[in-house]
Amino acid sequence: MTGTFDEVFESSQLPLHPPHSEAMYQTLFEHAGDAILVVHGQTGKIVDHNPTAVQLTGFSDGELHGMSLSDIWLPDEPAPADATLLPGLAPGIARGSHRRKNGALLPVEVNSRRIEFRGEELLLLIVRDLSSHHAQAKGTAGKRDAKAVAQARRDIEELAQSKEDLAILFDISSAISKEIELGKLLDQALAMITHLGLFDVQRKGAIFLVENERLTLAAHLGLDEAFCAAHQSLKTGDCLCGLVASTGTQLVSGNIAKDKRHDITYPGMIPHGHAIVPLSTGGNTVGVLCLFLPPNKGVDERKLRLLMAIGNQLAVAIEKINLYQKTKKLSLHDPLTGLANRHFMNISLKNNMAGAKRSGRPFSLILLDLDHFKQYNDSFGHVAGDKLLSDVGSLMSREVREVDLIARYGGEEFLIILPDTGEQEALEVAERIRDSIISYEFRYSRQRPTTRITVSAGVATYESSISEVDVLVARADAALYRAKENGRNQVLPWLTGGH
Ligand code: GH3
Ligand code: MG
Ligand code: MG
Repeated sequence: MTGTFDEVFESSQLPLHPPHSEAMYQTLFEHAGDAILVVHGQTGKIVDHNPTAVQLTGFSDGELHGMSLSDIWLPDEPAPADATLLPGLAPGIARGSHRRKNGALLPVEVNSRRIEFRGEELLLLIVRDLSSHHAQAKGTAGKRDAKAVAQARRDIEELAQSKEDLAILFDISSAISKEIELGKLLDQALAMITHLGLFDVQRKGAIFLVENERLTLAAHLGLDEAFCAAHQSLKTGDCLCGLVASTGTQLVSGNIAKDKRHDITYPGMIPHGHAIVPLSTGGNTVGVLCLFLPPNKGVDERKLRLLMAIGNQLAVAIEKINLYQKTKKLSLHDPLTGLANRHFMNISLKNNMAGAKRSGRPFSLILLDLDHFKQYNDSFGHVAGDKLLSDVGSLMSREVREVDLIARYGGEEFLIILPDTGEQEALEVAERIRDSIISYEFRYSRQRPTTRITVSAGVATYESSISEVDVLVARADAALYRAKENGRNQVLPWLTGGH
C-alpha cells in the first residue's frame, strides 16, 4: 500500500468514534494487563473476574467466582470505616497483599471504584501485581548496596594503602636519616626504593645531585658503564633528568623511544619508561631520582605522590649531610690553604700515636717552615704571601699519599703526619717536598719577576719510648731548628742525644 498518511487513513475508513460494542468491552476486559475483580457491594463476593485475575491469584475461574474478597485481600492499612464499603477498601488506591492459592502473599495495589449496574451496587477492583516493582526496587537497592559496599571496600583499601605508604615513608626516612655519609645514603636509598616492589620499577635507577646547573651522577644501581658514561656531564634541561632538575616537577615517561625529550642514547639501551622525581626541599632541587619502568607501564597518582614524598625526605637528608660535611670541614680545615687545622692535626696525632703503640709500627712527622718568609712578604706584599702559602699547600699535597695529613701548624709552618712511615722514608718525602717547592716559580703579578723560595724541615719518627705526642712534635721542631741553624734550605732528622 502506497500513499500519504492521510490517504492511507482515509482509505482504511476507520471511524474516529466507533460504536462501542459489548464484544469490544469483553475483549478489553479479557486482555487487560491488570487483574480485574467485580465484587458484589453487599456480600463482598467476587462476581466476575478477568483471566489475569486467575493468573495473579492462582485460583481457577470456578474457585474465584463466589469467593469472598476478604479471603484473598489483606490490606496494609485498614481503610477508614466510614469510607469503606468492604473492610480495607476505600474508594481510590489501597495497598496490600493478595493471598495466592498456594498461600504465598503477593504485594498488590488495588484501585477500587463503586459502580451501579442494573440496580446493583458493585465494586470494580483493578488489582496490580507489585511483586515485579518490589523485585525491581529490591534490585535497585541491591545495586545501591553493592555500590556502597564496593565504595566502603575501596575506602578501606585506600586507608590501608595510606597506612602502608606511611609505613614505607617512615621506614625510608628513618633509615636514611641515620646516614652521615652521602655516598652510602644515596646507595641505600636507591636500594630501598627499587626493592619495595611498589612501583613496578625495575631494580635499577640513578640519583643525580644538582649543583650550579650541573647534574652529577652520584649513585646508580643495576646500570652499566655505558649508561654511566652517557650521563657524566648532564646540565639542567638536558634529557628527562635534566628537565626534572630544571623544573622541579616529577615526570613519567611511558616509553622513551616515543619521547622526544629523551635525547640521550647509549649502547645496549633497551626499551624502558621512566618515573623521575625531583629531590627538593624548600623549593630547592638538590637532586633527581631516576627510576626505570618496564615499557608502557604508567605509575598511578598515589604511587607518584608517595615517590614525591620519598624524594622530599631524601632531599632533606642530602641537605643535612651537606651541611654536616661543610661544618665539619670548616671546623677542621684552615680556610686559607684548605689544609687540616691545628684541631684536626691534634686528633690525627693522637690517633697515630695510639695506632703506633698498638701495632708497634712507627709513624713520622715532618715540620716544615718557609725560609725568610718575612722578606717575601716585605717584598711582594701580604696578599702575594697568602697566595704563596696556599700554593705551597697544593705543592706539598701532590707529594704525599692519601693517608698522610698535612696541617697548617702556624703562620708559615706546616706539620705533615706520615702513618706507617719510618725515618728514612720520611726524610725522602721531606726532600721531595723541599725539591718541589724550590723548583717552583711563584709569580703573582705581571709586573714582578718570578720568585723562588726555599724551605727547611725537621723529621722525627715515633719510637716506643715516646709516650706523649708533644715529645715527638718537639723533636721535629728541634730538627727544624737545626736545619735553620745549619743554613736553611735543607731537611734534617732529629738526632738521638744530639740536642
Ligand atoms: P725563617 O727563615 O727564620 O723562618 O724566617 P722567616 O722570615 O720565615 O721567619 P719569621 O718567623 O721571622 O717570620 C714568619 C713570617 O711569616 C712572619 C709573617 O709575616 C709571615 N706570615 C705568617 N703567617 C702568614 C700568613 O698567613 N700570611 C702571610 N702573607 N704571611 C704570614
Ligand atoms: Mg720561616
Ligand atoms: Mg716560622
